[in-house]
Amino acid sequence: MSQVPHITLNNGVTMPQLGFGVWQVPDAEATAAVTTALEAGYRSIDTAALYANEAGTGKALAASGLPREELFVTTKVWNNDQGYDRTLRAFDTSLAKLGLDHVDLYLIHWPQPARGTYTDTWRALEKIAADGRARAIGVSNFHASHLERLFAEGTVVPAVNQIELHPQLPQAALRALHAEHGIATEAWSPLGQGKGLLDDPVIGAIARRLERTPAQVVLRWHLQLGNVVIPKSVTPSRIRENLDVFGFELSAEDMAALAALDDGTRHGPDPDTFG
Ligand code: NDP
Repeated sequence: MSQVPHITLNNGVTMPQLGFGVWQVPDAEATAAVTTALEAGYRSIDTAALYANEAGTGKALAASGLPREELFVTTKVWNNDQGYDRTLRAFDTSLAKLGLDHVDLYLIHWPQPARGTYTDTWRALEKIAADGRARAIGVSNFHASHLERLFAEGTVVPAVNQIELHPQLPQAALRALHAEHGIATEAWSPLGQGKGLLDDPVIGAIARRLERTPAQVVLRWHLQLGNVVIPKSVTPSRIRENLDVFGFELSAEDMAALAALDDGTRHGPDPDTFG
């Protein structure tokens, strides 16, 4: 049985606080990776049209035999498909590839502010939610200014903002804004893409003391901050390791030591200019 706690989104839907990300997993390998994750106890899967593995992910969901209501499936509309009509069509394509009649969470992948289409795209997401085809809708990579525009022009407050977030980029200001508006913070690249961060000596010392791995310490930091996390791995032992983060706690001192690693490192592009 999975021990993953659920958080309640601003529309009452609940979401597992820890899920499985599949960016950069080729479609042919996604079925095996998602199957391993589901067998380990993950119930939330984060994909996107861009990842080109919705079909492989869907196969694993179907083959698992798990009841649909136990699963939490997220996908995202890609930049080229922004705009009201295009987004509605893109959503149909994603559902068909996943082999589902609804998703649990549908996100705008990037705001692309220079294109000026994210408010029309958001109207399409509002329609998809109203039609019951996404149980919740949200955004990804939105800065405060992009969120403010949705608050002013939309009718639904996003349930989630999925943003790059790890100890080197803790996003304190955006997390505070989310809290003010009841938006859940979901951390992408929660392990800093496994690069460098997991070799940090401060994290290593905490991990040795707690007899845990550096990845487990970082995931625990996220969970204690209240973030939703979606670590990715194609390595079965790591898939299981990343889920085994509920039997220990970081002290306030440990939390502060991780917070001190903030150096503004961004592995992804700047949402103000990307796309
Ligand atoms: P993560 O921070 O999850 O790191 C993944 C990397 O860390 C992989 O190279 C993996 O290797 C390695 N790794 C995983 N677990 C461990 C472990 N226990 N010990 C050591 N190394 C480990 O990076 P991602 O960028 O993949 O982010 C996670 C998810 O977030 C994505 O899969 C995607 O779903 C989402 N995302 C969303 C974005 C957005 O714009 N909305 C952008 C980027 C990501 P290996 O697989 O070889 O085991």
